[in-house]
Amino acid sequence: MQLKAGEYLMPPLAVLDAPANDACACDRPTSAKLSIDAALARAAAWASPVTDVDFLPLGAAAGRFLAHSVRARLSSPAFDRSAVDGYAVRAGAGLEAGERLPVIGRIAAGARGTRLREGEVARIFTGAPIPPGADAVVMQEDVRQDGNAIVLARPVHAGAHIRPAGEDVALGDRLAEGGARVDARLIALLAAQGIAMVATRRRPRVAVLSTGDEVAEPGAPLGPAAIYDANRPMLLALLEVSGCETVDAGIVRDDPREQAQRLSMLAERCDLIVTSGGASVGEEDYAARAAHLAGGDAEPLAMALKPGKPALVGRIGAAAFLGLPGNPVSALVVFSLLGRAMLARLAGSTPSPPQGLPVPLAEPLSRKPGRTEFVPARLLRENGMVRLALLSSNSARLQPLVDADGFAEIPADVAHAAPGTPAAFHAFAGLLG
Ligand code: AMP
Ligand code: MG
Repeated sequence: MQLKAGEYLMPPLAVLDAPANDACACDRPTSAKLSIDAALARAAAWASPVTDVDFLPLGAAAGRFLAHSVRARLSSPAFDRSAVDGYAVRAGAGLEAGERLPVIGRIAAGARGTRLREGEVARIFTGAPIPPGADAVVMQEDVRQDGNAIVLARPVHAGAHIRPAGEDVALGDRLAEGGARVDARLIALLAAQGIAMVATRRRPRVAVLSTGDEVAEPGAPLGPAAIYDANRPMLLALLEVSGCETVDAGIVRDDPREQAQRLSMLAERCDLIVTSGGASVGEEDYAARAAHLAGGDAEPLAMALKPGKPALVGRIGAAAFLGLPGNPVSALVVFSLLGRAMLARLAGSTPSPPQGLPVPLAEPLSRKPGRTEFVPARLLRENGMVRLALLSSNSARLQPLVDADGFAEIPADVAHAAPGTPAAFHAFAGLLG
């Protein structure tokens, strides 16, 4: 959804009516540095699950979140079937190598065979139902043809090469929880159940607004002290791949009243508003004040996190609010933590911190401890080993992000680490959706 330029300018009543000297979250001292887990919980608490349900054809549900848990309405597979191309046999207590058995039938996938008697076999193909009387399948590679019979090359035991009914799921099993993301795997599981329509939550509608007098629209001429807006396209892309409906809310100047107008207009149509820039407590930071002028609340959250200045979490009308720092890498890291927690809550699932996988560091590490640090890192593959090389970076540099495979997470208390020390690695593929 794209707003027309003129839409930004409507002065919503909420702004004009907002009491100017009311207590404002932005006047509260920034909380002492929070753990990342505590900050995630605080951020998520401002968002409420989207309750509207869209009943969609399964193929249109990719990227959505299930409105309810789903149970199996069939056992799958529904019948015992062959796992290989070969011969259905009656193994009983076991058959010896060298036994010669006549072939009395042929069962392709989709066909049904007739009952086997003692000593008889039927040609069978992968996916075909095991005929009554049979209790094993012999792979075609494990027999020798002898006229209209086969000779077993090895012993056969009951149950061999049969995929039993209900092996994947049994009738009534819980297939997925409400809030689960519908991806290709879940689509396959539901499709295998014959489920053609699925109840999903409406996609969260998320607005992205950039703030800052210096921030220019890509495509516009660049003034001498200006920078192009990198955050908004980045965040819009992140939200799109995270299954949100996005609202591109443009750029607004460092003016609390203008920002408040834009915010209160967005609050009427969005589940979450994400801003970048001006989220800290400096005299040129206006996001908290603007949220308040828009009739909302914004709580500064400081985490012992690098990169990442204080962020704002709160609510404006019915919309949750997330104010990100302006530096793009800080914005990305803070969004990946707090923004993801808020999106999880909107989707009706429980927020959890992103889980990194331990990968040994390639080089020694030395740094000032005290903050959990997310460092762009590259995976090096050498002699069958994977190691993590940390890239030189700072909160404003985008090139190291593009050169990296993900973030290495360095725990707050670590000052030195020897090569080979494992660090949690967050692949961009997972972190960015
Ligand atoms: P702030 O958080 O407003 O203090 O901004 C911190 C830094 O981020 C400043 O150098 C800003 O110019 C820069 N910045 C703010 N917004 C953006 C944006 N949308 N894209 C790229 N850089 C930005
Ligand atoms: Mg600024």
